[in-house]
Amino acid sequence: MTTNWYHITTGQFGYPQPENDFGYINKTYDSSNACLTCNIGLRQKDEFRFRSEPKAQHSQFLGLNWVFDQVFVRQSVKDVFEQEGITGIEFSQPVINKTGLPIGGLYQLRVDSLLSNGLLTDNLKSEVCERPKDKSMFKFLQANKSKLAEGPFCGQTKFNFPQVDNCIKLKGEALDNKTDIVRLDYYFGSGGSANRPIIISDRVKQIIDREKWRGAFLQQIELV
Ligand SMILES: [Zn+2]
Repeated sequence: MTTNWYHITTGQFGYPQPENDFGYINKTYDSSNACLTCNIGLRQKDEFRFRSEPKAQHSQFLGLNWVFDQVFVRQSVKDVFEQEGITGIEFSQPVINKTGLPIGGLYQLRVDSLLSNGLLTDNLKSEVCERPKDKSMFKFLQANKSKLAEGPFCGQTKFNFPQVDNCIKLKGEALDNKTDIVRLDYYFGSGGSANRPIIISDRVKQIIDREKWRGAFLQQIELV
């Protein structure tokens, strides 16, 4: 039976630390199989580091700037997801950058259940990690000493996140027998931003609605 699925994102509260020169990349990710120009292939190796405990006490779902594919949740979400037996997730605790101590009552949803087939791409804009073909764009990026002008380039493709009146489309059958929460094994974003979106089943959405939790933005996936 096919159910509805949703791409989940959150509001952004603060920046991953250390934020100078994107220092969080080396602290948080293993880049041994990644392209450091487009950031495709980064794998999380350590906890995200926050500057301070996020305010927004009324938001049960939170995120960080620059990181568009990680979701952090409050204690109540962890408790209920565990009670309900939601599958496809584990929880870990982000830390305060200065002290290295876990942030009480805040958890990262660790989603390692991957969906690597079934994405329809006809409605998506894509970009390839390569030297910019547009000369004025190349000059602009070069003047800004951007890696996007210098490379090295890996030639891999990412899709731009769908904008208004557009959405992620998946083959419904690809989601048969999947966990309640799944990560798409496709990269979305632009330039040096590479994200693999998290999607949730209707069962999870119904829990979010029932509990009146705030801070989760859900965009319905079109199933084909
Ligand atoms: Zn690349």
